[in-house]
Amino acid sequence: MGQLHDSSSGSNVPFPQRPVIILGAGIIGCATARLLLQNGFRVVLVAEYLPGDQSIWYASAWAGAAWHAAGGISPEYRYIQAVTHRHLLRMAQEEPESGVCIVDSYEYLEQPPSENSSAWGKTVLSKWRDLQPGEYPSEFSCGWRYETLVTDPTIHMPYLGKKITELGGQFIRKRVESLEELHHMFPESSIFINASGIGSQTLKDVRDDRCFPERGQNVFYKTDNCRTMYFRNGQEYTYVIPRPMSHGVVLGGVKQADSLSPEVDMEIARDEIARAHRLAPDIVPESPSEEALSYIVGIRPSRRGGFRLDSERQGNRVVLSAYGFAGGGYAFSYGIADALVRMVESAEKDQVLLE
Ligand SMILES: Cc1cc2nc3c(=O)[nH]c(=O)nc-3n(C[C@H](O)[C@H](O)[C@H](O)COP(=O)(O)OP(=O)(O)OC[C@H]3O[C@@H](n4cnc5c(N)ncnc54)[C@H](O)[C@@H]3O)c2cc1C
Repeated sequence: MGQLHDSSSGSNVPFPQRPVIILGAGIIGCATARLLLQNGFRVVLVAEYLPGDQSIWYASAWAGAAWHAAGGISPEYRYIQAVTHRHLLRMAQEEPESGVCIVDSYEYLEQPPSENSSAWGKTVLSKWRDLQPGEYPSEFSCGWRYETLVTDPTIHMPYLGKKITELGGQFIRKRVESLEELHHMFPESSIFINASGIGSQTLKDVRDDRCFPERGQNVFYKTDNCRTMYFRNGQEYTYVIPRPMSHGVVLGGVKQADSLSPEVDMEIARDEIARAHRLAPDIVPESPSEEALSYIVGIRPSRRGGFRLDSERQGNRVVLSAYGFAGGGYAFSYGIADALVRMVESAEKDQVLLE
């Protein structure tokens, strides 16, 4: 059988040998790279920050990162989260070195659940149970208990980096100023994925003005009592997310659009400890010892109106966009990657086989 050539791009490289180019090596770019490689595609990731890096602008290094069913989302987005859960569960069961763990979770609601609440999570989560009065603090309206998944990013990102390399994926550390610059680097490639997170605010030919940075700051408390998550659902935004493999829990949270400081704000840290103690007094003491505490600061890649996931034809190239995941990049990660694999396949089919 002869090889396929796409004469419209002027490239002499047969289509199956052209790498898919991913801009960004956070959880979105890396999860996508892994699934594409597992599906037989060639992949190159270009990014300023790579797995293992610790810039505050590299959100994936700092996430909690819990799988929590988002409220107020469409059935399509729920399904993306469900697919993510399927992938993470398999990793927790079959690849413990991935840093993904199954943990017990208590979620307390300030108000009775609304119609489009996170209660849909019961269709995905194991061991879901409505708590009875007396099983949750009296200040709350109701509560749920279930098993969920937490991903330790300090383990998962380096793990994912290693898996991608083993599968033949290539990382290039480079900051680009535009997608056009990326296209010039890979004139033979036809499919590009923009997974640049907050980078999409400043890339010259993207300049998405819906993107905005949102600062997060968490406290990491070292303890071996680290197998249970607590989540307060309502006006107050408080969580205790276990990291069993790092022997500790992450206490949060806070969202700030008015400060992007990399410095730890001790007032916020003290407030988070106090809130976490109120939520989970059996795990977080009122005054934990200083030696058991460390601090996490990261910028969430937020986007007004929600994340972007679409495919655009630009001349003889296809650009897929997947960014703006705010505080949910891990909860949506592998579902987005799975959707992107299908979008790449569809682009390939349209561009090569049907032209
Ligand atoms: C404190 C905190 C707690 C969080 N907790 C949770 C949680 O519990 N659950 C959850 O699901 N999510 C959580 N998140 C959110 C999660 O971290 C993000 O949604 C996710 O990491 C976004 O991934 P990303 O790949 O889109 O972006 P990023 O991880 O920011 O990666 C972007 C990539 O693009 C590259 N890039 C950008 N611009 C350029 C350019 N011009 N040239 C070259 N490279 C470029 C960067 O170098 C990087 O490699 C939390 C975030 C924070 C800060």
